[in-house]
Amino acid sequence: MYMYIGIDDTDSKDGMCTTYISSVIIDKLKDFGFNIVGYPRLIRLNPFARYKTRGNGALSFKLNVESEDDIQKVKEIVLKNVEKLSQLDDERTNPGVVFYYGEITDELKSYSLKVIRNIITIDDAQKFAAKIGADIFKFKKGRGIIGALAGIGCPNTDKTYELLAYRIPENYGKKRKINHESVFEMNKNTYPQTFDNVDGDNKYIAIEPHTPCPILYGIRGESPEAVLNAHNMVKVCEPIEKVAVFETNQHTDMHLLKIEKIADMEKFKCYIKEGTVKTPPQTYEGGHVIFILNDSSGEIPCAAYEPTKEFRDIVRKLAPGDKLRVYGGIGEKGTLNIEKIEILELSKVYKTQNPICECGKRMKSAGSGKGFKCIKCGLKLREGIKDKIEIERDLKTGFYEVPPSARRHLSKPLVRIE
Ligand code: ATP
Repeated sequence: MYMYIGIDDTDSKDGMCTTYISSVIIDKLKDFGFNIVGYPRLIRLNPFARYKTRGNGALSFKLNVESEDDIQKVKEIVLKNVEKLSQLDDERTNPGVVFYYGEITDELKSYSLKVIRNIITIDDAQKFAAKIGADIFKFKKGRGIIGALAGIGCPNTDKTYELLAYRIPENYGKKRKINHESVFEMNKNTYPQTFDNVDGDNKYIAIEPHTPCPILYGIRGESPEAVLNAHNMVKVCEPIEKVAVFETNQHTDMHLLKIEKIADMEKFKCYIKEGTVKTPPQTYEGGHVIFILNDSSGEIPCAAYEPTKEFRDIVRKLAPGDKLRVYGGIGEKGTLNIEKIEILELSKVYKTQNPICECGKRMKSAGSGKGFKCIKCGLKLREGIKDKIEIERDLKTGFYEVPPSARRHLSKPLVRIE
């Protein structure tokens, strides 16, 4: 029989990482003869969940168990280590562990999709766990049970892999020693089987986190072989404690809902929506670029915030009347934060100029409401109107996306879109 284990909310901004704790637990289980089946799963949940530490990730894995004794032993090992390794002193860390023995039913998959696309309460998770007969274990407030259960039930229709290399504890918080040249070389050799390795037109490496967590680097790709192969090409000048490969829902767009009407959009949800650009994009203090998108039901401000860097140059070129398909989520400020856009149709943009006189010279204004006059031949045109001239658009239809450094974990990069 399969026994599923879900773990979430063990870390804090000051350190640790649920992936690392899970890897330690998986090693301990192995010591007792329990080998996990397949890869452990790193499941990303709603990016707007209020209590997330960073990337709102939950962990799950499954084992074959044969007896009640096996189940008790596994539970004991998992719970002992979650308690030992979690950042329980941090007020915001509220670990939750879920054990589940049945099939991954449609109902369980829908629960997971709900946690990926909506906001739910601890009580909702607890009631659902009771309904399906899952055992929950709450440390402190136990908020982690929300994600732990979602981690178990997440559908794996589309998936990617991430290899995480962990540092030795003595190095936590210290500057990471990764040979950047080797990362550029690895990217050249493995892209697009691996992706989001480098950023800023190959100026920065994107595999390195900037937090005091145990991760030295993470390589994302299409298969376990691809990420392992890439890992073997990366050179580092510090010890690696261990390496683990996770199956994930990262970069699948699983968080996005197709929605008919802008008027039905809600805060803290992520959408795919077609609409028309209503206002010219404006750049605000801090470098954020915002325009209004509308449809027949309403309108929504769409934002390319400063961290989206060069993507903002594309957004600035949009004009009223352009038809778009926008992918993104509505945050605290009520703007739809753009992850990518598909420009479906470009509107015609015009400039106006004074008319040309019969003599060939461009005319001048004769004053407000007085038409035009020619300074060369003296001709006056009282009823004259300005010429409308179409401007060539410096933009093409098609997809545009934010750079890897600004990419949400769940957002599907264009290289993965067939
Ligand atoms: P890290 O990525 O560093 O592991 P994190 O960003 O995943 O950390 P957690 O410490 O796991 O953050 O905290 C997220 C908390 O939010 C968890 O308790 C999780 O159960 C809960 N949570 C996740 N998704 C939702 C949701 N859709 N609605 C309500 N709560 C959620």
